[in-house]
Amino acid sequence: REEKPFTEVKTVCPYCGAGCGIYLGVRGDRVVSSRGDPDNPVNRGKLCVKGRFALKFVNSPERLKKPLIKVDGRFVEVEWDEALSTVAERLSEYSGEEFAAVASAKCTNEENYILQKFTRAVMLSGNIDHCARLCHAPSVRSLSMTLGSGAMTNSIAELEDSACILAVGTNPTETHPLTAYSVIRAIRSGAKLVVIDPRRTRISELADIHLQNRPGSDIPLIMAMCRFIIEEGLHDTEFIESRTENFDEFRDAVMALDLEEVESLTGVGVEDMRRAAITYASKKPASIIYSMGITQHAHGTDNVIALSNLALLTGNLGKPSAGINPLRGQNNVQGACDMGALPDLLPGYQTLDDSFRFSDKWGSTIPGPGMTLPEMFDAALEGRLRAMYIMGENPLLSEPETEKTRKALESLDFLVVQDIFMTETAELADVVLPACAWAEKDGTFTNTERRVQLIRKALDAPGEARTDWEIICMLAEKMGAEGFDYASSSEIFKEIAALVPSYAGISHERLQDGGIQWPCTSYEHGGTQYLHSERFSTPTGRASFLLPGYHVGEVSEEYPMVLVTGRNLYQYHTRSMTGRVPELDSFSDREELLINPLDAAKLGVEDGGTVLVKSEGGSLEVRARVSGDVMEGVVFMTFHFAETPANVLTGGDRDPVSGMPELKFTPVSIRPV
Ligand code: SF4
Repeated sequence: REEKPFTEVKTVCPYCGAGCGIYLGVRGDRVVSSRGDPDNPVNRGKLCVKGRFALKFVNSPERLKKPLIKVDGRFVEVEWDEALSTVAERLSEYSGEEFAAVASAKCTNEENYILQKFTRAVMLSGNIDHCARLCHAPSVRSLSMTLGSGAMTNSIAELEDSACILAVGTNPTETHPLTAYSVIRAIRSGAKLVVIDPRRTRISELADIHLQNRPGSDIPLIMAMCRFIIEEGLHDTEFIESRTENFDEFRDAVMALDLEEVESLTGVGVEDMRRAAITYASKKPASIIYSMGITQHAHGTDNVIALSNLALLTGNLGKPSAGINPLRGQNNVQGACDMGALPDLLPGYQTLDDSFRFSDKWGSTIPGPGMTLPEMFDAALEGRLRAMYIMGENPLLSEPETEKTRKALESLDFLVVQDIFMTETAELADVVLPACAWAEKDGTFTNTERRVQLIRKALDAPGEARTDWEIICMLAEKMGAEGFDYASSSEIFKEIAALVPSYAGISHERLQDGGIQWPCTSYEHGGTQYLHSERFSTPTGRASFLLPGYHVGEVSEEYPMVLVTGRNLYQYHTRSMTGRVPELDSFSDREELLINPLDAAKLGVEDGGTVLVKSEGGSLEVRARVSGDVMEGVVFMTFHFAETPANVLTGGDRDPVSGMPELKFTPVSIRPV
């Protein structure tokens, strides 16, 4: 039975990018309960299983409580002063390009801002990145190119008034449950649902049309849909003429498509594609939602461009309940991007060419563009990168090519990890610094719909754990830097608002009763529910049709099946948090590889039996579950479990524009063990 709380603190769920409002129940120094905040506009009192039952990881006896320094291969507890002096001394040995930092979508806006400021202004390095590289980096790049802003155009609740929802490469009932709830409410009100996904999911079972295409074949399919919309005269000519560019070139390209080739690449019949296109284009307003089934490809940027073309063609932008909506995975991945934890963009997506306001404010020169996360590991292996600072992330399990990542981390001269638990990555560090969990600090998260929300301290941190921003500020001061003497996270936010125009009208004081969606440019501005209502954020004010290239991956005789990796409802990322919540184990305590019954019969795989999965990158053994949810020739597993680390199998190609590694198309072989 759940203990009754002594106090309840209004805050935000630390898990997915929906950013549900919660009341966190606290008794003494323990979290004992949570309930949905009925006044929060995102969840209106509702919570999914993680927000409701998975917050007690904060109480775990395994929390880090003291700074640790590795001596002769073993960690030894030390005082903060010794730990910070060691880190300051070692980091001062390295030049800018020899140092890299990894920020975190689990940390607050203020903490991400401070880490990128430390990296750029103190270490003089442009090498700052975070897990968006493996999530929505392609969205940031492509939607900036086509629309002028890389964020979700509309809001979660607006989905409920859409006449049609096109869900592509997304499984929101598992990964974004409160967004799925809005989709279900829309269906109940009569909206049509079209799903494009190689997998059968709970959301696809609710769809009017489910196009089960081959992994990696979204671009030809979406381009064919655009062609059918034009052929049927369902494109919005007035919108195209008044608000877009490059339409003629785009139309000529889609009209020249070889439909027989499209059918063979996608595995979807032409008439099914036409029916989906007509359904999407004839219902107004229509929303597109998508997740990592679109972005986690070596052509992720082109995938998003294809979807952007579809929304532009039908005029579904700049109006309520329409738009193109990337569903951000982790709770603050939108905020970490907004705060400039990216190697090529400053806070607020300001370019490095416009760095003068940052150099003025910070009193330092601003270094040029740095390395992306995968490039950092390449550079470590080549000896070009020698020191790394990782805040709240576990790349050893979350990055592709696990063995390469391990070698890269091991080859560094100096590695610092700052976290709440001893993760697999922290085990490799020279110094580990204990950080506060989200319930132990004040600050802000920005959810997937650009809503900046306040999180509040509900209890004291265990032992000597400190907030991530305090640790970095203490370190900066140890290194002799000025400009890091903040008294509170609210003071840091004031600096952010002074430098980032889209956050200019936001302050902690204004966030006391509900969040504000950026852009919010002044204290009189109420925030922005949907983007692009009058003009696009491009230099010309018009959106652009762009032509995506496409190449559908191939399997080989040696590796004849395609592995797709993903997530499930009950676990989060590499389980550093959910793995400490026993209540969740009854739902999902180990990995299962989904395999189609026809493949299972052909290969002699039994339901519940163990299989060996092998790719060019590595191999692992995992329990098989025979399921019609995956199509013939495709297998699926999550990357949650350290015991079956899916990323030993993935890797290889990267998106040349965004640096996104290919995670949804890994050729593998399967055999029973
Ligand atoms: Fe938390 Fe996301 Fe669940 Fe909401 S939907 S309770 S934010 S995990």
